[in-house]
Amino acid sequence: MLNPKKTALEIDLSDPGPLPEEAIEQAVALMRTGRLHRYGEYGDTEPHAALLEEEFADYVGSRFAVGVNSGGSAIFLGLMASGVDPGDKVLVNAFNLAPVPGAIHHSGAEAVLVEVDGDYRISFADLERKARDTGAKTLLLTHMRGHIADMYRVSGMCDELGLALIEDCAHTMGAKWQGRFTGRFGRVGCFSTQTFKHINSGEGGILVTDDEDIAARAILYSGSYMLYEQHRRAPPRAAFERWKMQTPNFSLRMSNLVACILRPQLREMQARGECWNRIYAALESRLNAIDGVAVPPRQQQEEYVVSSIQFHVHGLTGEQIRGLVDRCTGRGVAIKWFGRDEPVGYTSQYHHWEYLRPQDLPNTRGSLFTTCDMRIPLALSDGDCDTIAAIIAEELAAA
Ligand SMILES: *Cc1c(COP(=O)(O)O)cnc(C)c1O
Repeated sequence: MLNPKKTALEIDLSDPGPLPEEAIEQAVALMRTGRLHRYGEYGDTEPHAALLEEEFADYVGSRFAVGVNSGGSAIFLGLMASGVDPGDKVLVNAFNLAPVPGAIHHSGAEAVLVEVDGDYRISFADLERKARDTGAKTLLLTHMRGHIADMYRVSGMCDELGLALIEDCAHTMGAKWQGRFTGRFGRVGCFSTQTFKHINSGEGGILVTDDEDIAARAILYSGSYMLYEQHRRAPPRAAFERWKMQTPNFSLRMSNLVACILRPQLREMQARGECWNRIYAALESRLNAIDGVAVPPRQQQEEYVVSSIQFHVHGLTGEQIRGLVDRCTGRGVAIKWFGRDEPVGYTSQYHHWEYLRPQDLPNTRGSLFTTCDMRIPLALSDGDCDTIAAIIAEELAAA
């Protein structure tokens, strides 16, 4: 065997790692002032939330950025601020995470699921067919697990079909398609700073847009009271005047404490991305060398920033895949399987969302049945990658 000495992986794949010391120090200093709420009636200090928004807008190159309390809230506000009304149809790729259909449901709209292919990218044929059949006016596209579709083709198709594009970039912070950041192809881009994404504040979300009305509406919906001028990356006052009396306050604000621990992490994004992608390459080559395992190929135009890896296991029954995953997990290689009948942990499949109108997507179902998924902690060494591949190879042979 590849590495018979190692019976289990020692590093904990679920360990998010510590925050940078600077983040901890800033948080302590902020707590000493007590000014955790982002708005103040006698604002003499610069609130961290407004500073983070400015830094994030500069990072992705957007006109506006709005901090909120979660990625799901960013998507919900993206839909609301773009004018999605109750009963509207919203197209969304079917390989997705629960907060995404949840955000559509929250807005009162109806999710129309679109097929993905074996590489987890949205099916253009199914997108076109369902856009025409349903008359949907919005596409919410999740770059699920960091796999990015041909974004110029997506944009072209949205223009042709009259679809407003909203991007869910929960898995693609810092990632680009042909040199352009994800989140910058659509009218709105939505990011999450939940612990297992690219930067960690426990909970948090950021919405970016170039559109003055969307930015003003998102800020008002998020719960700015009448203190919206304390945003540094906000549209002109006239945009707020248009919306302020007719926009409910949903209290989805980002707190200064969250923003202050994100700011130093955002400055580390370049280095983190390089580290993640180095580990990904090490795992990809080792996993592809195992018989029956295939990591979907990446496209040349894609500059991904991964924090997890997906691979297909071929030629096994569901029972065998379940056994494989359980045995690997027992040896410290915590693998998730997207083919389960029941939702487990963070992993669910579209047919588990029974509050949606029932929809069958055979291609997506087939692709997810063979899909395994593993987190990539930044601390993973080359030796750990060897151990992971050896354990998967041994347990696959045993299956
Ligand atoms: C994490 C995640 C979100 C947002 O999740 P929150 O927990 O609300 O921050 C949205 N979409 C996808 C694909 C995600 O993985």
